[in-house]
Amino acid sequence: MRIVVVGGGYAGLACLARLARVLPDAERHLVDPGRWHLRRTLLHETLRRPLADLHAGFGPIARRWDFRHHAVAVRWDMALLRRWSQQGRLRLGRKDLEFDALVLATGLPGPKRPRSRSKTPPVPLESLATGAGIRAYRQLAANPGPAWVVGAGASGLQCVFELAAARERGAPLGLVEASGTILPAEPARLRRVVWRRLERLGVDVRLDTRYQGAGRGRIRLLGPDGAESLPAGGVLLCTGPTARPVDADAAGRVLHRGRALPGIFAAGDCARWRDVPFDAATAQTAVRKGRHVAESVARVLAGDEPEAWDAQQLGYFLSLGPGDAVGWLFSRAAMVKGLPAVAAREAIEARWDLLLAGVDSFGAL
Ligand SMILES: Cc1cc2nc3c(=O)[nH]c(=O)nc-3n(C[C@H](O)[C@H](O)[C@H](O)COP(=O)(O)OP(=O)(O)OC[C@H]3O[C@@H](n4cnc5c(N)ncnc54)[C@H](O)[C@@H]3O)c2cc1C
Repeated sequence: MRIVVVGGGYAGLACLARLARVLPDAERHLVDPGRWHLRRTLLHETLRRPLADLHAGFGPIARRWDFRHHAVAVRWDMALLRRWSQQGRLRLGRKDLEFDALVLATGLPGPKRPRSRSKTPPVPLESLATGAGIRAYRQLAANPGPAWVVGAGASGLQCVFELAAARERGAPLGLVEASGTILPAEPARLRRVVWRRLERLGVDVRLDTRYQGAGRGRIRLLGPDGAESLPAGGVLLCTGPTARPVDADAAGRVLHRGRALPGIFAAGDCARWRDVPFDAATAQTAVRKGRHVAESVARVLAGDEPEAWDAQQLGYFLSLGPGDAVGWLFSRAAMVKGLPAVAAREAIEARWDLLLAGVDSFGAL
């Protein structure tokens, strides 16, 4: 029996670790073009730590969890998924790889950005995974002119707090958000803490404002009072992916016209699971969907019906810069902030370290 996992992020590696337990005799393969797993959840911290800290080589992970890594990028769309499902194989470079089940876990690509001729083009968040992107992020931090972050989702906010800590005291920092609020799904108390921190740092927050473009030391915005062109030392774009995730059922089986495609599963950011209690583009969700999809694969290959995922959200944490964070654990009413929240975030990261080192503690909770 052979299982192929495409994508070695949080969902893909959590799936492979669980497969090692539930299908120990199956041949397990990872297809990912990189040589490393990238800890995306810490990308905003690359202002103060080297990118290499966020890399974990696939070689040692493959030895610990007993799978084979193929360094190949696989292009996929619904037509290819249907073909792979019918044929039970996919093309890897010049050879075919047959499978009994395939799990798609490629994350979602960032939006396509038009080329900019500006000397300091806007920095897309996704580029922080590369040396050039990190150099641009650090230049943005060092530039005394106004720095703007576009997008006040969790990643954009975490970058704002990192920039505030890295920039000279008083260097202007702005945050642009198209909607009328920040973190709408989170408790009002948590939002108030974030607002207070932003106010204390003097961040110029523009809600209900659309980013129109940047160049020649300016940023163009369209807000409630009309169009504006404001001075900009640099711009960081944290507007999230625009690609659509694939539809899957509550067990992680990819759906085509409402029916499960035999042998094809998906987990992590690249898949929206239908009719589940919660599904979000976070590493927490990716890990848990990855583990669940491994169970679904095992059940389906044994001829059983897979179980629906019924997990609830365990918590939520947001970094507010070095040494500060806010979040909740188990109950939205149980909010923690400051050092206890930093410790909780570190404990969550440590569990991922353990998985990369060959110990899967995620079954405990
Ligand atoms: C700056 C930042 C901060 C964040 N902070 C947090 C946080 O604090 N908490 C949290 O829970 N979440 C956070 N997130 C979100 C979190 O990182 C994502 O939800 C998570 O990475 C999704 O996991 P995934 O496994 O689906 O995809 P990814 O982690 O993106 O992994 C996808 C993998 O697939 C591979 N791949 C891509 N395309 C192909 C292809 N065509 N063929 C083969 N392989 C492919 C990639 O190389 C990669 O290894 C943050 C994200 C960012 C950018």
